[in-house]
Amino acid sequence: MIPVTKPYLPSREKLDKYIDGIYEREWLTNNGPLVQELTKRLEEYLGVENLLLVSNGTLALQIAYRALGVSTTNRDEKPEAITTPFTFIATASSLKWEGVEPVFADIHPDTWCLDPKNIEKAITPQTKAIVPVHVFGNACDVEAIDEIAKENNLKVIYDAAHAFGVNYKGESLLKYGDASILSFHATKLFHTIEGGAIVFKRKEDLETAKKMINFGITGPDAIEELGINAKMNEFQAAMGLCVMDELKSNLSARSEVCRRYKEAVMVSLSSEVQLQSYHNETSNNAAYFPVVLKSERKVLDVLNGMQRKNTQLRRYFYPSLDTVPEFESSEMCSISNSISKRVLCLPVYASLTEKEQDRVISELIDLAKSS
Ligand SMILES: *Cc1c(COP(=O)(O)O)cnc(C)c1O
Repeated sequence: MIPVTKPYLPSREKLDKYIDGIYEREWLTNNGPLVQELTKRLEEYLGVENLLLVSNGTLALQIAYRALGVSTTNRDEKPEAITTPFTFIATASSLKWEGVEPVFADIHPDTWCLDPKNIEKAITPQTKAIVPVHVFGNACDVEAIDEIAKENNLKVIYDAAHAFGVNYKGESLLKYGDASILSFHATKLFHTIEGGAIVFKRKEDLETAKKMINFGITGPDAIEELGINAKMNEFQAAMGLCVMDELKSNLSARSEVCRRYKEAVMVSLSSEVQLQSYHNETSNNAAYFPVVLKSERKVLDVLNGMQRKNTQLRRYFYPSLDTVPEFESSEMCSISNSISKRVLCLPVYASLTEKEQDRVISELIDLAKSS
């Protein structure tokens, strides 16, 4: 069986050493030394400041909305945020969970990220924020989005769960917007088993969020904010530090997988398959390899055909979130629906052998060309 993804498991010896340290210190959570060390290493590696580690990517989104004043405890207000329907459910469900109505704007047909001209059309007096997604690690049109936000006095929170380590015009993509969030779930490129981070533009917002993730407690007898528990623990940080140490070889193995897939598609499937158009000043982090086929029927034929041969593909992201009843969306996003029905992600992970890659490629070519 070739699964669509495999969590990266770093050196067990090294992890054991970190765990020995945790046992010696008997400090398991609450901003421990490993969480502090991982924070520093991530800030250095990513080239950012004001990074806050949290327990998962979904809470990273929720804390970011709270810290930036997008969600409100005033029940008379009905805040809205404009977001993309072509993403993982957590982008939109986290808004709804925070009492913010997600308003879906359609994506660009080539980049599959929010199209700025559709954002503008979706703005109402209730709009408080834009929540774009750098989907599959592709940079959104960050300059246009920042401009729209400035003109309309909106906050921008990027869901950068796929964009770990992506640079845009030579600098971290995470520097755009008021905040960007990362997910460190086991299936992501860089992971801490479960985990996430928020990168804030401003130090004040980081300080607000720091209080929020620890129940709003600021001292032995002081509670300053309405808070929640969203802390990362020392075992999560230990895993992160180990994965970090091996990131270079992990990344180069993944890039090689994506390079070989891309070559095969260009040579043999250029008329059957559409690839995502990357912004030409964006670095690629080889987090995913999505392909868009000609029809949904073709997708199901390929998916089921490969399943029979023990190769797992996944319909990331289907369905388009504007069709999910929970969100009561009035606008139908036709481009997102069309891409969403026809997209498949191929297996990408560091330990995928060349032989397995060749098998994926030849099965894909056979099935996509027939039927
Ligand atoms: C994985 C993911 C999340 C959620 O992150 P968790 O760490 O699993 O909570 C949010 N948004 C996107 C786009 C994701 O892919």
